[in-house]
Amino acid sequence: MKHIISAVRILFLALFLFLVLNGKMIIWLALFAVSLIGALLFGRVYCGYVCPMNTLMIPAEWLSKKLNIQTDDPPKWLRSGKFAWFALVGSVAAMLLAKRILHKNIPILLIWLVASILMTLRYKPAVFHNLICPFGAIQKVFGRAAKFSKRVKKESCIGCKLCENVCPSEAIEVKSIEKKAEIETSICLQCSNCQQVCPKDAIHYSK
Ligand code: SF4
Ligand code: SF4
Repeated sequence: MKHIISAVRILFLALFLFLVLNGKMIIWLALFAVSLIGALLFGRVYCGYVCPMNTLMIPAEWLSKKLNIQTDDPPKWLRSGKFAWFALVGSVAAMLLAKRILHKNIPILLIWLVASILMTLRYKPAVFHNLICPFGAIQKVFGRAAKFSKRVKKESCIGCKLCENVCPSEAIEVKSIEKKAEIETSICLQCSNCQQVCPKDAIHYSK
């Protein structure tokens, strides 16, 4: 399962680089738009399997841990959660202005790709996923209404927290009173990390 997921991510990364380097960024943006409709039904599958930023953040996090440079807390200016929306408006405005005034396409997706790697070298992936990514901000809105998503079967959960430790977006949390894990669908990337480590097979993708 893990290898299939990695292969899917690498294929989409290759497609992304091919399209961007050939000036076909619009095709990727169209794919992103379709993924928003998909998120209403299937959750943020784009973020977990298709997004090139998520794919490259995985080795970036590994490197950060190896070099021991990752910190736990996000910077203060990010904590309000509004930055991602400013980033979205800023990115769209920059693209439109560059096109209108300079008659050029700025490689906004590549810029965000580099930003995601740099941020993940310093901060946990959840910081970029939940507080910075402009694409994640929109996916969050659509993902909240997902008909299908990873869910926890409460009667099977023993509250061991193994799932919390592997979640890239801090979407799963063992509640202190109940001692059962719960998933926040709007920030769940549907990546299956939690499902793969759960010793009780308590996490499933379901309605
Ligand atoms: S890993 Fe499984 S059993 Fe452990 S807290 Fe998470 S859902 Fe519950
Ligand atoms: S680890 Fe589980 S809860 Fe966290 S993003 Fe992946 S599928 Fe969602």
